[in-house]
Amino acid sequence: MTTIKAYGATASTEELKPLDIQRRAVGAADVKIDITYCGVCHSDIHTVRNDWKGSTYPVIPGHEIIGRVTEVGANVSHYKVGDLVGVGCLVDSCQTCNSCEQDLEQFCEKGATFTYNSSDKHSDGKQTYGGYSTAVVVDEKFVLRIPENLDEAATAPLLCAGVTTWSPLAHWKVKKGDKVVVIGLGGLGHMGVKFANALGAHVVMITTSPEKGKDAKRLGAHEVLVSKDQGEMKKHQGSFDFILNTIPVGHEMDPYLGLLKIDATMVLVGAVEPLKPFNGGSIIMGRKRIAGSLIGGIKETQEMLDFCGEHNITSDIELIDMQDINTAYERVTSNDVKYRFVIDMKSLK
Ligand code: NAP
Ligand code: ZN
Repeated sequence: MTTIKAYGATASTEELKPLDIQRRAVGAADVKIDITYCGVCHSDIHTVRNDWKGSTYPVIPGHEIIGRVTEVGANVSHYKVGDLVGVGCLVDSCQTCNSCEQDLEQFCEKGATFTYNSSDKHSDGKQTYGGYSTAVVVDEKFVLRIPENLDEAATAPLLCAGVTTWSPLAHWKVKKGDKVVVIGLGGLGHMGVKFANALGAHVVMITTSPEKGKDAKRLGAHEVLVSKDQGEMKKHQGSFDFILNTIPVGHEMDPYLGLLKIDATMVLVGAVEPLKPFNGGSIIMGRKRIAGSLIGGIKETQEMLDFCGEHNITSDIELIDMQDINTAYERVTSNDVKYRFVIDMKSLK
């Protein structure tokens, strides 16, 4: 065990503050990583504030981790000291169930171990602690290789925002010429726009923030719609093959379902809580589908990172010191980030 510096919350009503935490000794299959950058996901805030219930304190958030390998266990074969690596939302799973065998560790039938606030079999069931910290010890199966050509800090958000938007686009086979909507230009949404554009789709951004329109186009949107503009929304009825919905709270569904073509799908990744009641007719008419998606498996995360390396895709970030985290949380919840905060972990060392 080693004691390291971290930042976390001791209660849902408390601000984040410096805390000391322990990391396990490096086991035979483990990689120890000196964390250089960690992204700030809206899920970190939901967990700190116990929005989804089930948070165990202290919560040390952070699942968009980038760093360099400083130590490897005796059986580690894929990584060596000095390698640039990442850790996303998953740090363990059973490896034997149907889901794990299909590279869907996020749906592990025995329960995946998430990077923070998850029961940790390596420490007597105490919860896992995330990347708002100086170092982490992770089984090599859950470590990702980061393409060295990418900007290190701007790569961090790919580990969650990246794969969460990549995975549904890949699963529903979005392709050249498809008409795709991305709803919500935040951390996830801006990656969704970049990926859908890179896959050759015609991308329409739907936002509540008209002032983000110019940025949306720079990021790869071909058109921008303001959701409150009912006239514009009506013009696009029945015209989309796929909708990626990143709205972080419960919301009205009917206006968006109306945009889908026959047999088309809207995938929710943001709103975990109850949605506003919607009309069955909105999906019955047109045999439409509403689906959900949770991050992505390890294999898929590596595929996404390799795609980003080839296409030079990273996140648009605002780099902050660890000490600025509480202000950053306020700014994310008041919809004021372009488009992901990333913590420079030098500030904690
Ligand atoms: P974010 O950076 O805060 O972005 C969310 C965006 O949604 C905002 O920028 C805003 O964009 C729009 N929005 C916010 N409130 C809204 C409202 N009341 N109605 C309509 N639009 C609204 O958050 P994020 O990090 O991208 O995360 C988005 C959600 O996905 C969070 O709930 C997060 O916990 C969840 N998440 C899920 C997964 C998964 O695996 N499924 C993974 C990571 C995160 P505009 O200004 O453009 O409207
Ligand atoms: Zn996340």
